[in-house]
Amino acid sequence: RPRRRFGQNFLHDRNLARWIVDAALQGLSKPWRAWEVGPGLGVLTKLLLERGAEVEAVEIDRGLAELLRARFAEEPRFRLCEGDVLRAEWPEPAADRVLIGNLPYSISGPFLATLFRREAQFRRIVVTLQREVAERLVAGPRQRAYGSLSILGQSCFRIEIRKRLPPTVFYPAPKVESSVVCMEPLAAAPITRAERESFCSFVREAFQQRRKRLGSRFCLEESRRPEELSVAEWVDLFRRCRRNGFAGGDRPKGRRDLLV
Ligand code: SAM
Repeated sequence: RPRRRFGQNFLHDRNLARWIVDAALQGLSKPWRAWEVGPGLGVLTKLLLERGAEVEAVEIDRGLAELLRARFAEEPRFRLCEGDVLRAEWPEPAADRVLIGNLPYSISGPFLATLFRREAQFRRIVVTLQREVAERLVAGPRQRAYGSLSILGQSCFRIEIRKRLPPTVFYPAPKVESSVVCMEPLAAAPITRAERESFCSFVREAFQQRRKRLGSRFCLEESRRPEELSVAEWVDLFRRCRRNGFAGGDRPKGRRDLLV
């Protein structure tokens, strides 16, 4: 019986499952390596294994973990980690690994936050998300959905909504629509790995006061509000503030020394 606590809505449309696996592996050369989040009953896992991929999966539900171990007992290319993906050890960065999963909606926020702090780990990420979250990821300046998630995501990935999914393709059907999102690391990300943590805090903090003009927030000559800056402008603002001793996580102390 599906457990709501773990956001269990199982994909029962085989064609769609095949389409998702194809989207994840398309154009990549073998050997395929997949890190699967929340395999559930193993619908994507099975297809990945049939295609010849090596699959490492993280599943929080003990009952499902047992079921998966039994189902793929004969499969040497399958490895399961039983536990919470937000606490689990993530795999070492590898240029050929894809991340795949129909994410439980309840953890998509913290999951994406973790992902954006470690962007270089995967060759490609194909995940099913609540439609609104997917739209926030791809939104541009001045659009209603544009916010910290858009900036943090687009500063390290090329992001595309590949497909909309109606609730009926899942059992039980969720109350919301979903979208399959594909993300690929930018060849030259404007924010380095070392800066990422600080950039995330910087952008998030600014959006907590969404209506406030950036000039008064960061003591700059800047009359715009957070949602009016493009990703490139956010990177530039971050650098200017850093140069002047203020970056994410800090509180502005003396105002004078922060003037840019
Ligand atoms: N991939 C399967 C499918 O498409 O049918 C299941 C998708 S279901 C929406 C989400 C899965 O993630 C469930 O199996 C659930 O138990 C698991 N899950 C929920 N929270 C998790 C967490 N924090 N860490 C790992 N797995 C989690």
